[in-house]
Amino acid sequence: MVEERLSIQSKIVATVGPACDSQDQLAALMDAGVDVFRLNLTHGDPEHHLSVARTIRALEQAKARAVGILADLPGPKIRLGDLVQSPIYCQVGDRFAIVEGREPQDVHEVTVSWPGLTELLNVGDPVLLADGTVGWRVVERRPGRAECVVEKPGEIRSRSGVHVPGVSRGLQALTDEDLHLLDHLKAIDVDFVGLSYAATPEDVLNLRQALSDRHIPARIVTKIERKAAVDNLQGLLEVSDALMIARGDLGVEVDIARMAVLQKEILRAARDHRLPVITATQMLESMRTSPLPTRAEATDVANAVLDGTDALMLSGETAVGKHPVLVVQTMRRIVAEAEALLRRDQALLSGVRPTGRARPIESLASAAASIGEALQASYLVVTTKTGYSAFVLAKERCFQPTLALTDDERTWRMLTLCWGARPVLVPEFRSSYDTIRYVEQYAERYAQPLRTGDRIVVLGSTHWTSTRHDMVVVHEVH
Ligand code: PGA
Ligand code: MN
Repeated sequence: MVEERLSIQSKIVATVGPACDSQDQLAALMDAGVDVFRLNLTHGDPEHHLSVARTIRALEQAKARAVGILADLPGPKIRLGDLVQSPIYCQVGDRFAIVEGREPQDVHEVTVSWPGLTELLNVGDPVLLADGTVGWRVVERRPGRAECVVEKPGEIRSRSGVHVPGVSRGLQALTDEDLHLLDHLKAIDVDFVGLSYAATPEDVLNLRQALSDRHIPARIVTKIERKAAVDNLQGLLEVSDALMIARGDLGVEVDIARMAVLQKEILRAARDHRLPVITATQMLESMRTSPLPTRAEATDVANAVLDGTDALMLSGETAVGKHPVLVVQTMRRIVAEAEALLRRDQALLSGVRPTGRARPIESLASAAASIGEALQASYLVVTTKTGYSAFVLAKERCFQPTLALTDDERTWRMLTLCWGARPVLVPEFRSSYDTIRYVEQYAERYAQPLRTGDRIVVLGSTHWTSTRHDMVVVHEVH
């Protein structure tokens, strides 16, 4: 396992799609530094996802490196049905009707994929179409029919996305289709499940129950993409394993002018909860076609790192773009620059470290990080059963080389989302002495042998098998 690619601490999530789902492309993306592959279940059939997942697992074996798989559920995304013609241009002042129970009769009628939507709409509600590029407002409602007037002109197409911020609270995040897809996930063996359009903690708990009913041990990535999710952020933090700032839908549900501020607020809240966050959507959007990102995109990627994101996600850029591998390489280069700044700028660094270290593990992690830094430790090591303590340590943003040691294969893969940590699967340990000896062997095998005077700092537990961490050990090689 030779580290050839540019080493960075932040993790990269890449969405798989037709542009990159061959074995060669997936291997090239792994070599370029993808940590987690996202299967977007909104597109493609379960059989295809299954075969992609098998390829990823085979590559993981061949390359002896953990790769996470995030299966992203479609959730209650509302789409237009088939229009009588597509596209249709909506002029300001035009009237359109959303009809239910029958097909559209003319260009001024549309159907939607969400039965009962017209019941949930009220006069005055905005209806946003085609990713928010087109705006209607409800002006009249009758059973099975909502009349709207165009306020923001633009083009709509068959199966364009529909957003109705006013009623989003009424929609259940976990749909029957999602549950059906979960039945297929068992075979796919995923590490993370993305919950789209989550609104309340109950949505997350429902998914957790559905996963446990199906014996799927995956962690939940709650996608913050509704206004309701922003309003209920504290509750969602309590029950989620990770968050995704899903800026695509979020940017339609809330005023886009608030996007940057929301991103910072969500990251700060998650940091204090020690929850990993993926920042997603349009990060290097123009690289779908262009070999270079825009200045704004390059700046956005760097700023996400400086805001404290743990992972950055690529969507269409890798799924359907022209340069999937180049886009990952470009992202790494930008991230490396931002991390170098973070590392040398104390003010920026303290800005992204958590406040409040009330629980023992939080204090221990903070101590381990600062000892590691003060002693310029060759390795900062965390032993972990569930991954939790590694995620707590990650939030301390320590730049010493960090190994997260676990004897649990699921945890090993889950750590692919853990900022700064290299996940290492180890045989069972019995003592901190075993841990230190293992790290010495690891250094000899994968980096360079440790020398007299080198230090290893271990955040662990006096009983390896306990998930409760209670010690920090400093070992000096002699
Ligand atoms: P999606 O989620 O790509 O599944 O819509 C991400 C987002 O909304 O930003
Ligand atoms: Mn979305």
